[in-house]
Amino acid sequence: MSAALTTLDATHAPDTQSWVESANAPDTDFPIQNLPFGRFRHNAMEPWQIGVAIGDRVLDLHAVGLVDHNDMHRLMALPVAERRALRLALWEGLRAGSALQKVWADALLRQTEVELGLPCEVGDYTDFYTGIHHATTVGKLFRPDNPLLPNYQWVPIGYHGRASSIGASGQQFHRPRGQTLKPGASVPDFGPTARLDYELEMAAWSGMGNVLGAPVSIADAEEHIFGLTLLNDWSARDVQAWEYQPLGPFLAKNFASTVSPWLVTLEALAPFRAAFERPAADPQPLPYLDSAHNRSAGAIGVQLEVWLQTPAMRAAGSAGVRLSQSNLRDAYWTLAQLVAHHTVNGCNLRSGDVLGTGTLSGPQPEQGGSLLELTLGGKQALTLANGETRTFLQDGDTIILRGSCQREGARRIGFGDCRGTVLAAHAA
Ligand code: MN
Repeated sequence: MSAALTTLDATHAPDTQSWVESANAPDTDFPIQNLPFGRFRHNAMEPWQIGVAIGDRVLDLHAVGLVDHNDMHRLMALPVAERRALRLALWEGLRAGSALQKVWADALLRQTEVELGLPCEVGDYTDFYTGIHHATTVGKLFRPDNPLLPNYQWVPIGYHGRASSIGASGQQFHRPRGQTLKPGASVPDFGPTARLDYELEMAAWSGMGNVLGAPVSIADAEEHIFGLTLLNDWSARDVQAWEYQPLGPFLAKNFASTVSPWLVTLEALAPFRAAFERPAADPQPLPYLDSAHNRSAGAIGVQLEVWLQTPAMRAAGSAGVRLSQSNLRDAYWTLAQLVAHHTVNGCNLRSGDVLGTGTLSGPQPEQGGSLLELTLGGKQALTLANGETRTFLQDGDTIILRGSCQREGARRIGFGDCRGTVLAAHAA
């Protein structure tokens, strides 16, 4: 039952300390209450190995005997009871006073000394559109009198994206070139995009898959999600505007997407569950997208931030400026609803598939999760703290997404940085 994923146990106790000192720092993303999974390697000649983040270290799971393989898909596909047992074993070994400290200390590496990759090989990638504030604001730019299409409040809207260009934090990519139609022109131009943007999203990573033809009910849906990362769905807005009708995004989106390296499990997120509520005036979800559990605890509170570091800021030693904040809790559909909807026709999810939430904007204009929103479609430039301005991204700009969960009575946990940098376009 999915309820097992919202049950608190000893691993969530906020006062537990770890013998790994850096895990006890108040501002760490990775205290012992988090225990997210990822993949690391010592150099490009070695295979990826499974690790768990603890403070500023990574614990080698193979070295401590908790896995006998390096296959993250296999780990992610474990049934919930085994996932919980693995989390408990990690907690037992890493908590202050553990008898395992002497042995496990040899299996710790500094995160800065290893390469962190994608948390697993990515299977299929679907991007949804659950940010209703984003959908409304962007809809207004394209259709001022009809911003939200009538299906939005009934169907979790999504499209099938491209998995091959999803990269781990630190991804760098060349500004894409493509077709665009200048205002008033009747013939398209071809060249580097002039309206390169980011999208603040989260990704749900499929764990246990489902058999083709066998839908996942909303009651079981959360058991099919292993964990969450941050996701930046880089977008070329001018390419998008010209190509998106009639079949939706294509080359405007598939040149790069960046994810944070650590899979924060649904178990770790249990203390941050929230009620899923629909405004009374909105249609309530159809029965296959509705359950008592989903209503009482289907949402998750994750505070999200977007930071921009321009080349000038980097040269001046500045970590960048925060562009906006929002929260996953404001999504119009829950993760369980996305899984139930995706599979209702019999479509099969597999371990390692990625479900993007869509851009997560807050209700206020300054909470837009993309530059498209923050600059009103490029009409109103942002002035940054150092006097620079931006409508869309320039070469050398780095975007950093951050996410964290905070609540009274719980230890703060975070997702680690999701960082990506725009390089100049390839020469024509
Ligand atoms: Mn998107």
